[in-house]
Amino acid sequence: MTSIQTNGHAAAHAAPTIKIVPPEAPLRDVMNGAGRMEIPCLDHGFVALVDCMPRLVPEGKTADFAIVQSARVSYGEGTKQVSEDRGLVRYLMRHRHSTPFEMVEFKFHIAMPIFIARQWIRHRTANVNEYSARYSIVPDRFYRPDLESVRKQSKSNRQGGDEPIDVGTAEEFMKLLDNAEHLYKDYLSLTEKGVARELARAALPVSVYTEWYWKCDLHNIFHFLSLRMDPHAQWEIQVFAKAMYELLKPIVPVSAEAFEDYRLESMHLTRLEIEAVRSGKPLATDNKREQAEWEAKRERLGLK
Ligand SMILES: Cc1cc2nc3c(=O)[nH]c(=O)nc-3n(C[C@H](O)[C@H](O)[C@H](O)COP(=O)(O)OP(=O)(O)OC[C@H]3O[C@@H](n4cnc5c(N)ncnc54)[C@H](O)[C@@H]3O)c2cc1C
Repeated sequence: MTSIQTNGHAAAHAAPTIKIVPPEAPLRDVMNGAGRMEIPCLDHGFVALVDCMPRLVPEGKTADFAIVQSARVSYGEGTKQVSEDRGLVRYLMRHRHSTPFEMVEFKFHIAMPIFIARQWIRHRTANVNEYSARYSIVPDRFYRPDLESVRKQSKSNRQGGDEPIDVGTAEEFMKLLDNAEHLYKDYLSLTEKGVARELARAALPVSVYTEWYWKCDLHNIFHFLSLRMDPHAQWEIQVFAKAMYELLKPIVPVSAEAFEDYRLESMHLTRLEIEAVRSGKPLATDNKREQAEWEAKRERLGLK
């Protein structure tokens, strides 16, 4: 067998022999042979899972297997019972030992309105390739909420909306969207007259849809999901985040369960909050927002 470590000159130029190691057990496709798995979102959008790593796993295992496999480099072989694999994944999640979760990756094809893409792109750890509106004409797809989903500006959350607004005002808003969409005809005709696509697109509203391929590892996807499935995130991006979670959950069920138990449904307590629980006294701050947050936590904890 030729080795790439050989010192001899002739051997150094020869192709090394690649040792092929068969899998320990027959392999199965975690996407069950699907080309893509897609969930429609909003009026024209979707989240489609197009690939993942590991795509092939030993029969009887899930893609969680890759997390356990890499963690055992640091924790040693031990036994390989499925129940112990679950315990290890849950331990890693509880103790924020994040790198084993980076061994699993998912690639999605997503279509979403530009105002959602702007929030999404803030998640810097993904690899992204977006539709080019310099190169191609923007398709005629604009986001319109249902009339009853036009929401009022929230009084408690300056960043969000909450209850539906009255029908009259909602209809007025729909007319505003109509006007913005009418710009599309002008956009098309001006590109036909020769205006550069890269400039003509400046007239399109942020409700127009864009598309991208988005690849990310599971650790950073969980971070994305914990922020964007949260009720404080804009409702429209929650729709996409929840669809993404539905697609990956059956592929990494053990990690997803640990994520729900130790991240998504968990709660962080500050030092002041721990003091308040211990002493039974009010929170030692006059910051109104912090007090309101503590009241919400007390409610969840059944302390009020
Ligand atoms: C409800 C909500 C409201 C928001 N409102 C606003 C707003 O008003 N204005 C606004 O601008 N943004 C806003 N954001 C965006 C927010 O500030 C973050 O940019 C976004 O959530 C991405 O988070 P991240 O940086 O943790 O994620 P990622 O970019 O995915 O990064 C993941 C983690 O990697 C690490 N990391 C990544 N890149 C670096 C780096 N260069 N240096 C150091 N560490 C790095 C950090 O630990 C980070 O937490 C909002 C987000 C949410 C969820």
